[in-house]
Amino acid sequence: MSKKMLKFTDIGQQNPPKREIDLRKEDFKEIYDEFINEKATQQSSRCSQCGVPFCQVHCPLSNNIPDWLKLTAEGRLKEAYELSQSTNNMPEVCGRICPQDRLCEGNCVIEQSGHGTVTIGSVEKYITENAWANGWIKPIKVKNEINQSVGIIGSGPAGLACAEQLRTSGYKVTIYDRYDRPGGLLIYGIPNFKLEKFVVERRTKLLKESGIKFVQNFEVGKDSTLEELREKHDAILIATGVYKAREIDLPGNDLENIFPAMEFLTASNKKGLGDKVELFDNGKLNAEGKNIVVIGGGDTAMDCVRTAIRQNAKSVKCLYRRDKENMPGSAREVANAEEEGVEFVWLTAPKEFIGKNKIESLKVNKIKLGEPDETGRRKPEIQKDSEFEIKSDMVIKALGFDPEDLPTLFGSKELQVSRWGTIKTDFDTMETNLPGVFAAGDIIRGASLVVWAIKDGRDAAINIKKFLKQKTINQEKVA
Ligand SMILES: Cc1cc2nc3c(=O)[nH]c(=O)nc-3n(C[C@H](O)[C@H](O)[C@H](O)COP(=O)(O)OP(=O)(O)OC[C@H]3O[C@@H](n4cnc5c(N)ncnc54)[C@H](O)[C@@H]3O)c2cc1C
Ligand code: SF4
Repeated sequence: MSKKMLKFTDIGQQNPPKREIDLRKEDFKEIYDEFINEKATQQSSRCSQCGVPFCQVHCPLSNNIPDWLKLTAEGRLKEAYELSQSTNNMPEVCGRICPQDRLCEGNCVIEQSGHGTVTIGSVEKYITENAWANGWIKPIKVKNEINQSVGIIGSGPAGLACAEQLRTSGYKVTIYDRYDRPGGLLIYGIPNFKLEKFVVERRTKLLKESGIKFVQNFEVGKDSTLEELREKHDAILIATGVYKAREIDLPGNDLENIFPAMEFLTASNKKGLGDKVELFDNGKLNAEGKNIVVIGGGDTAMDCVRTAIRQNAKSVKCLYRRDKENMPGSAREVANAEEEGVEFVWLTAPKEFIGKNKIESLKVNKIKLGEPDETGRRKPEIQKDSEFEIKSDMVIKALGFDPEDLPTLFGSKELQVSRWGTIKTDFDTMETNLPGVFAAGDIIRGASLVVWAIKDGRDAAINIKKFLKQKTINQEKVA
């Protein structure tokens, strides 16, 4: 064992400093500073190099965390980066936005023994940023291009990871996306204060330079059918994510200034990227000076409340029907939101939206938590005579997402979906019921995490390669 490790009893846990609350509320920049080299080395040396590393076990990508921590502690930063990127196509993204408190760090052995987890996410971000700064991250150079092409629908993390893996093996890859920029929710969903957009743009630029073709503003279902794409390519990956906003059917739902979360977040992200956004520029989608109520308790709700704070809202309330302990959102993000001045109204559910044309207030009920339901979570029950009103000029609904009706949208009625509308794939091969059509990411899992989308994209690439090799063998047999 290197003498450089196991320092967790001598060196306390330290994350890179968070920017001052008042400062970070003023802009959309990321809130965590970066480690300086010395700190990253020190913090990595706290790792106890567990025989069974629970951090790795609980990482969807099985990242070899203890080994790259050791290499970082020893100052072997290039090797640390190479090891980290060998299992992850965008470690600088995961380092920033993975809910480490629920995955690697939440399961770190020294955290369990009361010493405070190794700050894995911050080290991951550090070693990847260091690799970019040193020019170690280069476009893929394909020596022998294979004369088979894969069409990928969706340029979110699942599509991008699959594309990179296939291109590395020499396949021709074209990514189709209905947005004007690649990145999926990395570019238009997740706000800058969690993930600055240069991070996403830098990655997609690299993939373009690697020979991957990007076709933007191309919606499968409108600009072509799935069948037409199948004819054009040897295999297809569907990685379209889930975008149908869940609704609440309440009186007053059609009042003005009630928006779905993605409309609000996309407008804000587009403004950050320098675009003209009519609904924002005319003030409608801008929270400035308004009393904002966000309904929901997940990560999307946290992103909405914190965006509203940065847009200078008069007040920002988050309405959630369960309590803090039962919130689905990352505890770290809830804490950040609280620090920034968001008021959480726990155990409260909306009953009616009130206003003449525009929303003016919400009628809400207090909730108590009853017996656990079939999922094991305690059921929210309305408390009798508990009604009260909350003033609001703008309501943002962040109640989650469902898949769109892809078989109809794609003009492929025969494409099989689950009862939740997610695409059905073979568990082992990730192939749908249509031969040569694979699927990955949120569209097979339902709304999930970036790290799972990357994992799916990588697994899909392995399966697509097997399929294409078999296709070649079959063609050779016929010839
Ligand atoms: C607001 C918000 C915040 C989040 N924060 C986090 C976080 O902090 N950490 C985390 O790990 N996860 C977070 N997530 C979840 C994460 O972003 C997703 O799990 C992940 O992006 C899914 O990747 P994907 O590639 O499957 O789909 P997406 O990223 O959704 O990409 C799908 C792409 O497909 C394109 N597309 C869809 N339909 C078509 C079509 N018909 N034709 C052409 N293109 C199409 C879309 O334009 C999009 O670019 C967040 C999600 C949201 C909504
Ligand atoms: S669980 Fe924690 S201490 Fe153990 S190997 Fe992983 S990071 Fe190191």
